[in-house]
Amino acid sequence: MPFDPSLDNGPELLARAARAAGARPDLTQGGGGNVSVKVGAELMLVKASGSQLKDLTPTSGYALVNYGNIKRRICAGPGGESEFSDYICAQARPVKGVKPAPPSIETGFHALLNTLVVHTHSVYANILNMSAEGHALGRKLFPNAEFLSYKAPGPQLCTAVNERALPRGPQVFFLANHGLVAAHAGVEGALELNERVNETIRRQLRLPAYPAVEPARGLSAHNASALARYGRAFMLENVLSPDQALYCSPEALDGRAGPAENEVLTALFYILDCMAGLKLTPRFLTRSEVAYFDTMKSGRYSRK
Ligand SMILES: [Zn+2]
Repeated sequence: MPFDPSLDNGPELLARAARAAGARPDLTQGGGGNVSVKVGAELMLVKASGSQLKDLTPTSGYALVNYGNIKRRICAGPGGESEFSDYICAQARPVKGVKPAPPSIETGFHALLNTLVVHTHSVYANILNMSAEGHALGRKLFPNAEFLSYKAPGPQLCTAVNERALPRGPQVFFLANHGLVAAHAGVEGALELNERVNETIRRQLRLPAYPAVEPARGLSAHNASALARYGRAFMLENVLSPDQALYCSPEALDGRAGPAENEVLTALFYILDCMAGLKLTPRFLTRSEVAYFDTMKSGRYSRK
């Protein structure tokens, strides 16, 4: 019998977490970020691949997976990139009245953590995640958090999270050159934990207010002026994150930019400006780390 969302409060909780995490461009940009809620011993609702957090409702924008199987698979050694991704997709289960959709490419690490997981590309956490000195600084602010060095999203990241994951208890992960993960027993707890981390970084580092991201046709005025300061070549040659590799193409920088590209660029410029102000050294992805995304641009990861 398929899962019936009207008989369980999981979809409501998931939508609440998605709205809170997805409504702010300083926390998620474009299709980035995802949330999940475990609804039993083996089943988990997770944002669907290709949809945006802010569009998730109790009846759309998510998938149901057997997370028990995914967790066991990661523990046994997740295998190669496409094999692992195919396995995750094969764990999708039907939901009554909800259009089937593939689960997010980042479903793997959600399976390893507590009941409610909020994963964002918070610009505040990413100042720490994307600088050479950031994780040492972060350890002083958050002695109980986990700080992981850069791993490509997919089986490598899942294996690294698995080494530190607690199936119970609140937990925070800082993922280098990527984002923040907050896991908790409930939706309020996870959102509060997420907010507390962001607020602490903003306050302790005395960060400036995040600029408003104006809807624009082409590059927004804010992004065009920041791009003129940093230079097109600099932005193409120095990649801080998977989002930059996937969204900031030469075409986007030349003006073929929609809301997602503008959100990602505003986030990158904010992070770069803050790092310069704090005298932190940006930790750019290596050529081989960037090359990984070339093969994925038209494939799975672009649809996260
Ligand atoms: Zn992510």
